[in-house]
Amino acid sequence: MAPASSKKILVVEDERDILQLVKLYLEKDGYRVSTATTGPEGLKAVKAEHPDVLVLDLMLPDMDGLEVCKRLRADQQTATLPIIMLTAKAEESDTIIGLELGADDYVTKPFSPKALVARVKALLRRVERSREDAPSRSTYGALVLDRDRHEVKANGKDITLTAKEFGLLEYLLQHPGRVMTRDVLLNAVWGYEYYGTTRTIDVHVRRLKQKIPLLNDAIISIKSLGYKLKERET
Ligand code: CA
Repeated sequence: MAPASSKKILVVEDERDILQLVKLYLEKDGYRVSTATTGPEGLKAVKAEHPDVLVLDLMLPDMDGLEVCKRLRADQQTATLPIIMLTAKAEESDTIIGLELGADDYVTKPFSPKALVARVKALLRRVERSREDAPSRSTYGALVLDRDRHEVKANGKDITLTAKEFGLLEYLLQHPGRVMTRDVLLNAVWGYEYYGTTRTIDVHVRRLKQKIPLLNDAIISIKSLGYKLKERET
């Protein structure tokens, strides 16, 4: 079973029994596994090892999983790193926050290691699929964005966007269902050298909605965090 072996999974969990068990099962399935036991250690390991998936425990000493997740999402390099959160049933409200901060999936403790491995596998498949169909055209219902032609059409009609409006729309269309903080959007569309404020994002989102009415319900503002393009039901 060679194919999975190239994928690297980072597991951040302070309970060493769980950590070892998860590591064992993932390795048995052919994954390369590295581990960390605190939030800061986990952040460092992400930077150093570029894992394909991060399995992140919510309750960690020093810095909890929510903070780790938030920091990863705010950094353009790790903004789209696939993350599975490990949570306890009692932490349900934190789980919701975790998903809003951009975790891709979560598994509730106690869990079977096999089930976790299955979720890792499913997430990797999802990521792969979205990479495969990331061509020059993105569609969202009646909206079509063509990157090569620098064209946007809604219901067949041409929409004229500024370069930044185009970039912002493109970035949102590439990450449906994920909460993007204003900082992530600024970094992605304006770049690190930009000295504007995060309010710039609000202004551009408003303009996008004015020019493309179907985005009114599709781009959701997530209080004090940023924006999310609703996932379309297909
Ligand atoms: Ca823990």
